[in-house]
Amino acid sequence: MADDAEHCGDSPRKEGSGRDTGEEGIIYSKLKNGSLKLYELEKELPPLDAIRARREFIEKETGTTLENIGIFSIDIERVVKRNCENMIGTVQVPVGVAGPLLVSGEYAQGRYYLPLATTEGALVASVNRGCSAITQAGGAQVRILHDGMTRAPVFAADSIVHAKQVADWVAAHHEELRAAAESTTSHGKMTGIVTYITGTSVFVRIEFDTKDAMGMNMVTIASAKVAELVAQGTGARLIALSGNMCTDKKPAAINRIMGRGRSVVAGVALSHDLISRIFKTDAKNLVEVNYRKNLVGSASAGSMGFNAHAANVVAAMFIACGQDAAHAIDGSTCITTVDLTDSGVYIAVTLPSLPVGTVGGGTGLETQQECLRILGVAGGGNPPGTNARKLAEIIAAGVLAGELSLLGALAAQHLARAHQQLGRG
Ligand code: NAP
Repeated sequence: MADDAEHCGDSPRKEGSGRDTGEEGIIYSKLKNGSLKLYELEKELPPLDAIRARREFIEKETGTTLENIGIFSIDIERVVKRNCENMIGTVQVPVGVAGPLLVSGEYAQGRYYLPLATTEGALVASVNRGCSAITQAGGAQVRILHDGMTRAPVFAADSIVHAKQVADWVAAHHEELRAAAESTTSHGKMTGIVTYITGTSVFVRIEFDTKDAMGMNMVTIASAKVAELVAQGTGARLIALSGNMCTDKKPAAINRIMGRGRSVVAGVALSHDLISRIFKTDAKNLVEVNYRKNLVGSASAGSMGFNAHAANVVAAMFIACGQDAAHAIDGSTCITTVDLTDSGVYIAVTLPSLPVGTVGGGTGLETQQECLRILGVAGGGNPPGTNARKLAEIIAAGVLAGELSLLGALAAQHLARAHQQLGRG
């Protein structure tokens, strides 16, 4: 612990609080009688002491000991301002690496070790097997199909005639709206604005090239400016800056069809020999498992995702790399296809909505920065946008590895055995 002590919020031995018990008692009493709110602690104390006092209050109130939550190495001053309110500490998620994975994208070119933050035994091993197969096959081809983060404010019109007038007004004022939106950011560029009408509700879906930012805050701030002008120009009432036609953090057909964030496709050709050597199965079996499970099974279940476990890799890489973990839901709408070819199969994953960034949000936390550095994508790219696109390509290639490995395990009837060996102990 000696080396860690200067970085840690607290040590297991609870050293260096810097506060005497009298002061602690006063803070606790104030919190207990409500004269000081938990969220006000940073106004009274330096961040580390505020976090400790809050944690100790929760310990007393709940009869728990939170000594592990109290150990961390990240820069708390920044986190309490930007990333987390009412902070009491951190939870640790193990990070494993899969790879090397050979990627042949337009932004990512080379061999990468994928950082995966997970507690699901067998996941890293499975992705690792997929990486090995893809690399031996000559690498994953990856392309970005579309790039645009969206926000869709909803307005109330007086009638359906008024609603149509609002849509017409937006169409006639694109340039004015673009200038207003782009005045809020030095990096973002408005790439589209489309209206949708349902009854008297008008949705204005604004799309931005957010460069290396995932862009949700960036687009929301720009949309507020656009919404103000639309309301002024049309007399429609702004009801909510996010009207759910965006669509953020919900599985949605609009994202699958129109794309949201980075839309990415990754594919690889596998020979008969490789399928039999690595996966102990054959091309016909892989195609049939994909058809009956990922396509027929998902359709029968009314699923929005037609894949084996894309969200597993998306979530693990998002958590490791400081992405907004709730966006794993968007990643789960992946469609996996397996085509029979003369030489074996061509397997592809199409991810219509991968909201990723290498600046902003959780990407600045030290541990997450280190994971981004493993992939060579920490911070802004040169030119802007290239780092985030590179990250999207690598994640898509990782999803391909995960899909391939799980389909292979299912085709060879190996799934339960692998989980028993790796996930139980
Ligand atoms: P952000 O940190 O709010 O904004 C990105 C910032 O990075 C901007 O200030 C931008 O400056 C700057 N920047 C510097 N170099 C850049 C580069 N190379 N490319 C792009 N921007 C660059 O992050 P965000 O990506 O917009 O939003 C992500 C956060 O939004 C996450 O924490 C997520 O959890 C949260 N979120 C928000 C909402 C919401 O509705 N607000 C919804 C879901 C998630 P300029 O703008 O001046 O160019």
